Parts: sequence; structure tokens; C-alpha cells
Amino acid sequence: MLAMLLERAGRPLVAATRPRPEPGPHQVLLKVLACGVCRTDLHVADGELPRPKLPLVLGHEIVGEVAARGPAAARFAPGARVGVPWLGWTCGSCAYCRSGRENLCDRARFTGYDLDGGYAEYAVADERYCFALPDALAPAQAAPLLCAGLIGYRSLVAAGDAAERLGLYGFGAAAHIVAQLARHQGRRLFAFTRPGDAAAARFALELGAAWAGPSDGPPPEPLDAAIIFAPVGALVPAALRAVARGGTVVCAGIHMSDIPSFPYDLLWGERVVRSVANLTRRDGEEFLAVAARIPVRTAVEEHPLADAAAVLARLRAGDVRGAAVLTPDHTA
Ligand SMILES: [Zn+2]
Ligand SMILES: [Zn+2]
Repeated sequence: MLAMLLERAGRPLVAATRPRPEPGPHQVLLKVLACGVCRTDLHVADGELPRPKLPLVLGHEIVGEVAARGPAAARFAPGARVGVPWLGWTCGSCAYCRSGRENLCDRARFTGYDLDGGYAEYAVADERYCFALPDALAPAQAAPLLCAGLIGYRSLVAAGDAAERLGLYGFGAAAHIVAQLARHQGRRLFAFTRPGDAAAARFALELGAAWAGPSDGPPPEPLDAAIIFAPVGALVPAALRAVARGGTVVCAGIHMSDIPSFPYDLLWGERVVRSVANLTRRDGEEFLAVAARIPVRTAVEEHPLADAAAVLARLRAGDVRGAAVLTPDHTA
């Protein structure tokens, strides 16, 4: 099969021919129909996250069809459509796992980081961490739900139900999905985009934002909460400045540049800064049900699997509108 391999951080992905993986106990072999490209993939490829498995197949927004089942795998029928998220395995016995916080598991393994992911024609995944997906949803449309959507959902929950005026910093794959959830809940959206990025501001307004403006300026009114999707530490004090007393600033990314020092005044008044890390399977079940009900419609650009390196470059440059998705050509 074709797999796009990261051999070393900082090097471009290379196309490799590899044997199809064999599903182990509890694993399914998936024919990959689509795999989303996430900002985290860039952090891994650029060496900003410590200790990825190498060589590595990136990709943790996998939509696949069950092609074979390993020993003890019986949850999904052959041919079933499933989604594979970032959370690939947890120990089930640490204090976090036992308290409903498997996203923080001491020994968690992550797809496309500790485990090979979906930038390939086939992938294996532990079926206990997969999600059932409806056949009616096109694979490329579904892929961004599996991380951008899920992390966005977890971030929105962390922002609090009472946050009526919600700021979003960085209007990419996650924000364009969160915007639809937040609008559905009746919240008002304030989109902060990179100064000069008129296309992103327009996109935010099309998705129902009440206001869109540059991230280096203030919103037109104080916010109740803000979610930062852009990996830019300087946005933390900026967002604290934008939220009212009691407001929460949620950092949704796995990596961020250093946060500059800021006066205590910005935190005073019971403002909260917090991060959101990984996901639980419960997040996934809840979010996918809500997304189907609304329904969330993802804006995607599809690219051939072999173009993965160029797609990562597009994402780095901020040229992707919505989400980028890789689709293998199984006929080649
Ligand atoms: Zn654990
Ligand atoms: Zn991701």
C-alpha cells in the first residue's frame, strides 16, 4: 500500500510502499476512505512535539471501511463505516481513566503520533476507540469532525454554557465547526482572524459570526469566553483582555508559542485560563450525535494522498479554507 511517511521531524513526508498492516487483538483493518489534515500533524512534522514514533504515518481523522478484523474484534461488521480519532488507546486503570478523564491517561497512545495513522491506503485501529459513522455522510465531509470537530466541541463545553458572547481566535477547521454548534445554541460569535486575512474574516461572517476582526485588536464589546485555536501564545493575554469578569479563555491546541508575561489585572475578576487536552470517547459520542442533529456541514478541500506534503505546506501558510482532507486513490 501507499503510505506517506514522516521519517524524521523537520523533513518532508515521503511516499513509501509498505505492507498492509495486520490487525492485532481488538483491532480492525480499515480501508482508508479519507483522512483529515490537522494542525497537530504540522506540530509533529515540525518537531514541536516530543517523541513521536518514527518512522510515522501521520493522520488522526480517519474515515475508513472495515476490511478485516483481528482476534477478539467483533464490534463492527466487515464493510462498516468507522471513524478513528486521536485517542487511540488508554490503560483503563490509572487514576485518570478511573475518574472519567481518559483524555489525560498516564499511558495513552495517540493515533498518528504513538500509533500509525491515516495518511495511507490502509490503517489499523483499536475498535474500542473507533466511532460508528453513518454511510450517508461523505467520507471527506466526516473526516474533520474526528478531531477539529471533537476538540472544538470539548473546547466549547469548557467555555461554559453561560458564555453567550463567544470569541474564536483562528478561524480554521475547528472554528468553522464550533461556529455552527455555537450558533445552533444561540450564542453570538466574535471571530478573530490574522490581521489582513480578509478571506478568513469573510468565511467567519458567512458562518454566522456577529463580528469578524483582526486578532491584535479588541472586540466591539466584552466577551463571556474565548477559544484560542491558533498556536500563538500572545493571544492568551489578548483574549484575557477581551473577556469580561468571570470569563474563560480556552486554549484548544496541543502546542503554542510561549505566552508573554501579562499584568495580574488581566486575570483578576475570576477570569480563567485553561487548556483542553485530547478527547474522551464520551466527547466523541456526544459530539457526533449533535453534529448529525444540527447538521454540521464541513467545508473541505480534498487532495490526493500523495500530495500530503504539499497540503501540510498549505496549512502552514494559512491557505486552507475550512479543513483539508486526503483521499487515497484505491484504483491506482
Ligand atoms: Zn489510564
Ligand atoms: Zn487533530
